[in-house]
Amino acid sequence: MNLANKVLVALALGIIVGLGLNFSDLANHPWVDQNIIGGLFHVIGKLFVNSLKMLVVPLVLFSLIPGIIGIGDISLLGRIGTKAIVLYLVTTAIAITTAIVFAAGFGIGKGMSIPSDVSFAGKESSSFSDILIGIIPTNPVAAMANGDMLSIIFFSIFFGIALLSVAKQSKELIGLIEQINAVVMHMVTMVMYFAPIAVFCLVAKAIAELGIDLLAQLAGYVLVLLLALMFHMLVTQMVFLKALAGLDIGIFLKKIRTAQLFAFSTSSSGATIPVTLRTVQQRLGVDRAVSSFSVPFGATINMDGTAMMQGVATVFIANMYGVELGTGDFVMVIATAVLASIGTAAVPAVGLVMLTLVFNQVGLPVEGIGIILGVDRLLDMVRTAVNVTGDAVVTSVVAKSENRMDLDIYNDPEAGMIEDT
Ligand code: ASP
Repeated sequence: MNLANKVLVALALGIIVGLGLNFSDLANHPWVDQNIIGGLFHVIGKLFVNSLKMLVVPLVLFSLIPGIIGIGDISLLGRIGTKAIVLYLVTTAIAITTAIVFAAGFGIGKGMSIPSDVSFAGKESSSFSDILIGIIPTNPVAAMANGDMLSIIFFSIFFGIALLSVAKQSKELIGLIEQINAVVMHMVTMVMYFAPIAVFCLVAKAIAELGIDLLAQLAGYVLVLLLALMFHMLVTQMVFLKALAGLDIGIFLKKIRTAQLFAFSTSSSGATIPVTLRTVQQRLGVDRAVSSFSVPFGATINMDGTAMMQGVATVFIANMYGVELGTGDFVMVIATAVLASIGTAAVPAVGLVMLTLVFNQVGLPVEGIGIILGVDRLLDMVRTAVNVTGDAVVTSVVAKSENRMDLDIYNDPEAGMIEDT
């Protein structure tokens, strides 16, 4: 069995064990809770997520610098960047519009009563100008230490451009960076070997801790959001891929599955960057010139799934509180969600922080977010998978349009597959 299938089996087992623990109420047994769910599952899952996160900064740095050298021409870099930004923003706007249409169509939240004990304290998020200023780090080492992705991308591109200008005298340095890149890529593959056991632990823990009662109470919200997310991932994004790049959808969905499973298990597009990057480069054949920029950039600014949650949540809470939202309000929701997706990190549950911004914009009570808080863990897993799929779709479309995609690799079912040793 290849690794992708093993991860799939691990995921299924994780769901079964998690549900078993949940329904048998074993999840609430102090010993099981402390030693198995909060102990074994938690530690193994965390070790794995940490290993992935550990590779993100070196990977982006050492993949982006040779990526820039590979582009070799600054105007092409500008074109790739512009296309990626426009597509990321457009797809996110389409995603949230779809979500609003679904939620309004189903009229979710209408006539539901507001639980008396809701509370949610909104978190402060940075202003747009601060985010813009922060793109240029005053200290690149600090940016790397903090994992500030936009700053790291900026520094790497700047370094790459400078290196390009002195390439003749710097052949050895370029060779060295290439070698480090190959080593870090190999580290990603090595970490991925541990995925089956880690995915099992992460998923079993998440499902064991899920409040099933709450899920049933909020079934309308959960189901409509899941439906909208699936529609966006399987219809909208795939139409994009086919219409703009003419790529085979079946192959794409098959090859992106591993990255989706990682995203689902870790709930973090950021932690999934190594896997997404490996997948688009080695499985889909996207040239490093495009992918080394587009993937980490997408993981940071492109959040289709997260925006959809905001759309559905806005309609749901507005209906529950009996607040009438007009077309102008919805336009505001879309604009705020798209802008907020640029400024927030790709980590678990950041979508809730963005939702605070959206609610403030249209005057919905922020404490209303407390109603959906309890089911957010599961939805975060699904929407992160949608986010990562969106990154890979846009990366493939941009690469194909610039002739930076190796179709032999794309069409080869075995390309870049991790086999068992
Ligand atoms: N967990 C999501 C991500 O990392 C963000 C969110 O929706 O909260 O992409």
